[in-house]
Amino acid sequence: MTLKQLEEFFEKCKVNHLHGRYIYLDHISPLIDQLSSSLSIKIEGYSVNNNPIHSIQWGNGKTRILIWSQMHGNESTTTKAIFDLFNALQQHMFSEEFKGVQLMILPMLNPDGAQMYTRQNANDIDLNRDAKDISQPESRILRKAFDAFKPHYCFNMHGQRTLYSAGPAPNSAVLSFLAPAADPARTVNQSRKQSMAVIAEMKKQLTPLIPGQIALYNDAFNINCVGDTFQSHSTPSILFEAGHFPEDYNREVVRRLIFKAMAIAISFISNSPHSTYDYEHYTEIPQNEERFYDILIRNTSDADIGIRYKEILKDGKIEFIPEVTDMGILDNKYGHKEINADQYSVLSLKKEPFKPGDEIDIVLINNEKFSLKLTDS
Ligand SMILES: [Zn+2]
Repeated sequence: MTLKQLEEFFEKCKVNHLHGRYIYLDHISPLIDQLSSSLSIKIEGYSVNNNPIHSIQWGNGKTRILIWSQMHGNESTTTKAIFDLFNALQQHMFSEEFKGVQLMILPMLNPDGAQMYTRQNANDIDLNRDAKDISQPESRILRKAFDAFKPHYCFNMHGQRTLYSAGPAPNSAVLSFLAPAADPARTVNQSRKQSMAVIAEMKKQLTPLIPGQIALYNDAFNINCVGDTFQSHSTPSILFEAGHFPEDYNREVVRRLIFKAMAIAISFISNSPHSTYDYEHYTEIPQNEERFYDILIRNTSDADIGIRYKEILKDGKIEFIPEVTDMGILDNKYGHKEINADQYSVLSLKKEPFKPGDEIDIVLINNEKFSLKLTDS
């Protein structure tokens, strides 16, 4: 399967109805209702607010892969890519490539958080810190699916903020992955090696599209995290993080990449289950580092100003509010957008200086107005 083929597949199967950041049950329910009988659909249970949590199964190969998305409600990018994948499966695009696997996919584990556009569920619990306690209905549903389906691999699908670089270079971490640790010593055991091998394969194949923009998420062991828990049960687990491609605040570019990453990973597992081939290359991938602001104003008369967008759900839309995050010497940091103040002071419209925590739409530099608002992409 070449990148060109994957691109053609994506163009044919992209679900245009899903777009942007705010994706919740009302968007995906009609799509689930329209799925063909080649996919088997089940309601696995209900969320705190009594919203259904679906599973969709496909294939009858020997190797079982359990995939869940949007356990963090405001991380919708991978859900979009999953519906593109369902569409591809319905059109039999991967019949040959995926013939060794059986997929069970929970496309929206946290429908309440998705609707409220929050990371947490309706009880304000982070479901990815609830793996040990299993205190929430959504956590119990995932655990039940894991116990019943007995996967050979798990894909834990997330989205990450714009602040990460891939290593120290000024490259945004467009995709990040993790082969979670199975114990505090982060032992590289068989199941971790298998996770690493799949990630190394995705990295190898996707690098031509996003050179230097693939990174690794922090691997500190945390038994409260679902991936770590499943890994500790000797099930190779893989964390996918849809990150930020420059100017792609709607996460449509990275959606395309996640679709391709999933296809590469599933195909690799289908063709060589339990493989640890080339897993060592995993360690060559740079780490996520917190080096990016959405906007960085440099070279001011005083301190550099690092600004990040706060995402707020308002009137059914996500608004990106620019907020001063850090002020000081920000030499080792980068901006997705950078403004050079040419030694002038940077002031508000009331001609006052800024402080961290201030929300600012417009700045004055040498009496000239600069808008920091996100223009519609
Ligand atoms: Zn997440």
